[in-house]
Amino acid sequence: MNKNDSEYIAGILNKELGYEILWEGKPEDVDLVFVNTCFVRGKVKNKVYSIIGKLEHIKRQKRHFIIGVGGCMAQVDKDRLLKDKPTVDFVIGTSNLYKIGEVVSEVKSEGNRRDFVEEEFKDFPQGLPIYRETGVNAWVTIIRGCNNFCTYCIVPYTRGREISRSPEDILKEVDNIVKEGYKEVTLLGQNVNSYGHDLKRDIDFTGLLEEVASRYPDIWINFITSHPKDFNDKLIDVISKFKNITRYIHLPVQSGSNKVLKRMNRGYSRERYIELAQKIKEKIPGVSLSTDVMVGFPGESEENFKDTLDLFEKIRFDSAFTFIYSDRKGTASYNFRDKIPEDIKKRRIKELIALQNKITEEINKTYVGKRMEVLIEGKPARAKSDKEFQGRSKNNKIVIVEGDFHIGDRIFVEITELLGWTFRGKPIF
Ligand code: SF4
Repeated sequence: MNKNDSEYIAGILNKELGYEILWEGKPEDVDLVFVNTCFVRGKVKNKVYSIIGKLEHIKRQKRHFIIGVGGCMAQVDKDRLLKDKPTVDFVIGTSNLYKIGEVVSEVKSEGNRRDFVEEEFKDFPQGLPIYRETGVNAWVTIIRGCNNFCTYCIVPYTRGREISRSPEDILKEVDNIVKEGYKEVTLLGQNVNSYGHDLKRDIDFTGLLEEVASRYPDIWINFITSHPKDFNDKLIDVISKFKNITRYIHLPVQSGSNKVLKRMNRGYSRERYIELAQKIKEKIPGVSLSTDVMVGFPGESEENFKDTLDLFEKIRFDSAFTFIYSDRKGTASYNFRDKIPEDIKKRRIKELIALQNKITEEINKTYVGKRMEVLIEGKPARAKSDKEFQGRSKNNKIVIVEGDFHIGDRIFVEITELLGWTFRGKPIF
C-alpha cells in the first residue's frame, strides 16, 4: 500500500511540480526527500528518526532542501516530528497525499512548517498522476482504509474508513498499465475482500476480479491483502476458473488461538481459518499460501502459543511474516494490562520461525524436478553472468534461470536445484 502511495506522490511531484524522480541515490544530489513510513513494525520510529538525522547536514548546506515525511507512523507522531526535528518541513497524512503538490508549493513560497493530516478521504481520488517504479508488476489500489478495528492495529485510525474506488476508474488504470507493457497487475487494499460494499452498486471483489481477469487474459493478476473472515467460496471459484489469476494467496492468520483471535477482534475462529485454508488448497491446485502471524499478544498463554504452532503444522504455509507484538499508542490493545515479557516473546518467535523454516524447506524440496511458468523480472542481486535472470512463478517462487531472455518474458522452466529460499531452473523450449 505504501509503495503504491509513494508512486502517487512521485507522480504528483513529477507532473505538477516538474521534479525528476529518483527511487534511490544520494540525498545530497536532490532538492527534496520524501520519507514514506509504515507502522507495522514497532522499530520503524527509530529508523525514521535516524534517516531524518542523516539528512540534517544537507539542510545546513542547501537552504532550499525540503524534507517531507508521510505515512501511518508520521501521522501518529506528527507533533513530535515537527517539534524534535526542525529540519522536517512538512508531515502529510495518508488521506492527504493527493495534496502534496500544494503542500510543497506552500513550503517553498511561504516557508511554513506544518502537518497536513486533518482530512479523511470522502471520495476515492480519481485520475491522480502516477510515477511507477519500473518493473513488470504494477500496483493498483482498489480500496483504501479499513473498517475492521483489530485491537492491535492503527490503520483504521490513520487511514480512515473503507472507501472503494469506482470499477470504471480501476479498469481505466489497468487499461493504461497493459498498454504501457506491464505483465502483471496487483489489486491492492487493506482488505480487498470488502471491495464495493460502500459503492451501492452491483459489484463486489469477486465481480471485479473476474472482470479484470477476463478482460486481460495475458496479464497475471494478483491481489493483496485478504481478510479470512471475508474470503468466500465464490472467490475460490473465480480464482480456480481463471488461469491468469496467480496461485499465491496471502491470508493473515495472526494467531492460532481462539482466545487470542477474539481479543484481537479478528472475526473468525481457528476452525474457520483451517477449513478455509484447506478448501483453498483443495480447489486451487498448486496454490501457495502465506500468512502474517504475531506472537506475544497481551494475555497469550503458553497453551495459546501452542495452538499457533499446531495451526502452522496443520496448514503448512509456504511462508510466513512473523511479528512480535508491540504496543501502538491509540489502539485498544495498548491499554490491555496482561503484557507478555520480552524474553518470552523472543523465545516464542524463535520457535515459530524455526518451525516455519522447516516447513518451507520441506515444501520447497518437493518442487525440484517440477515444471513451472516463470515471469522474468530482472537480474539476481549477484548475477554470475549477463545471461542470468531472476523470475517469479505463478505461485510466488523466485527462480534463477540462464538464457537469452528479456524482462517481461514468460517462460517454462524445470526446477533443478533449491538455493536456500530460491530455486534454480532450466528453461524448457
Ligand atoms: S484488517 Fe485489521 S490488521 Fe488489517 S488493516 Fe484492518 S484493522 Fe488493521
